[in-house]
Amino acid sequence: NESPAKKFQRQHIDPKLPLSSTYCNKKMEQQDMTQGCKPLNTFVHEPLKKIQAVCFQEKVTCKDGKTNCYRSTSKMHTTDCSLLDTSKYPDCKYQTVQKERYIILACEGNPFVPVHFDASV
Ligand code: C5P
Repeated sequence: NESPAKKFQRQHIDPKLPLSSTYCNKKMEQQDMTQGCKPLNTFVHEPLKKIQAVCFQEKVTCKDGKTNCYRSTSKMHTTDCSLLDTSKYPDCKYQTVQKERYIILACEGNPFVPVHFDASV
């Protein structure tokens, strides 16, 4: 059974930068997010350790009002995968957009690690 920390890694971490505009179509399928065509998903293209370190950076309030969110102190390489309006379920089609952004993650547990992607800013 997949832990929340492993689920976060599956859904949001890919250390390699995308090489093509069809990245999201392939990656969303590979990482098992196309049952139901997840509408928006962010991948972060940085090493695992660097992403885990965000849990010890700037504490901020999460979108849902909880207080266990953390914003990165540096910008990171990210890709937004946004489901296209023209996508016909179950054939999920995404727009792939690379961005340099600060990421906001929710962290939990001992060890204190990311379990949720809250936003990028
Ligand atoms: O913000 P909301 O609760 O609707 O987000 C639902 C899920 O969408 C998040 O848990 C996250 O997996 C994903 N998401 C994302 N990047 C964003 C916003 C949401 O990956 N910028």
